[in-house]
Amino acid sequence: MIPASSLSTQAADWRLQWREAVTDPQQLLAMLGLDRLADQVRAVPRQHFGLRVPRSFVGRMRAGDAADPLLRQVLPLRDELIQAPGFGLDAVGDLPSLAGTGVLHKYQGRALLIATGSCAIHCRYCFRQHFPYSEQTAARDRWKPAIEQLRGDQGISEVLLSGGDPLTLATPRLRELTDQLAELAHIRRLRIHTRLPIVLPARVDAELCNWLGSLPWPVAMVVHSNHGNEIDDEVAAALARLRSTGVSLLNQSVLLKGVNDDVATLATLSERLFAAGVLPYYLHLLDRVQGSSHYEVPEARIAELERGLRTCLPGYLMPRWVREVAGEPYKTPYVASL
Ligand SMILES: *Cc1c(COP(=O)(O)O)cnc(C)c1O
Ligand code: SF4
Repeated sequence: MIPASSLSTQAADWRLQWREAVTDPQQLLAMLGLDRLADQVRAVPRQHFGLRVPRSFVGRMRAGDAADPLLRQVLPLRDELIQAPGFGLDAVGDLPSLAGTGVLHKYQGRALLIATGSCAIHCRYCFRQHFPYSEQTAARDRWKPAIEQLRGDQGISEVLLSGGDPLTLATPRLRELTDQLAELAHIRRLRIHTRLPIVLPARVDAELCNWLGSLPWPVAMVVHSNHGNEIDDEVAAALARLRSTGVSLLNQSVLLKGVNDDVATLATLSERLFAAGVLPYYLHLLDRVQGSSHYEVPEARIAELERGLRTCLPGYLMPRWVREVAGEPYKTPYVASL
């Protein structure tokens, strides 16, 4: 662990912590005593999904450990330049589903709002890195085009806020959305997909909790943690604050080579999540996104891991293993054949 004195994680205001995120790979390596990795790092212009990691997350990395599973999620490596066959720019078929209002409607009854293109952390395996978000977010024009589209579709009962990361928006902007959604009688559930409670727990402030507690629907919040080391006391406290608002907390992960591709790591993640009041929801097999082939776990190993994990966990701590297949009506379940 990094001594807390070298990090400014104590700042109360999450916006300050947001601005103080580490964006220079050489600085990150210096903070961790890993300057020797410099020649493995790829130079990425900041505006093109460069390195971005909040200091609170850096504080959970192990100094001197080149294989640290949190570091491995964010460090832009030269391996990203590998052009692997089958790895493309729109791996999950989002572009054809986009209606032009920041609303993605792929699955029956559920509409996903791309609330914003911003994230507090840049996860190197993420398909969002190639997505032309700036024009497509639902928050533009005070959410009006998105609301009009939802108003016109009585079949939608659940709205998902996603992105980017919707909790990077200021709370009053989120309230502006939910005030308008509350006028649509056919909406019965709200879901929020966010990584902020994990990577920037200070975001879970009183203002956010007041907003969540005031919503007229049952709310599910799906956080995104890939490794048990991400869940320290500060994160557990943020998750407890969220639970006290009445939201149901779920987690999704991605299976990543070099991060969480062993049974004990995945089992510990489920156990830590549960101890913090979060149930495992999905474990996604990697989307085949350009620049992410070094994270892919071989098929035979995937099967071994799935059976191994199922063997050692109670059923309710076993996430649903899924693969997103473009054009399918739901995330495709993955179960190792016997
Ligand atoms: C993943 C996803 C959802 C949610 O799917 P669930 O199986 O309900 O979690 C909804 N819309 C889109 C576009 C998605 O990609
Ligand atoms: S959308 Fe989620 S997984 Fe992708 S970069 Fe942002 S925080 Fe990471």
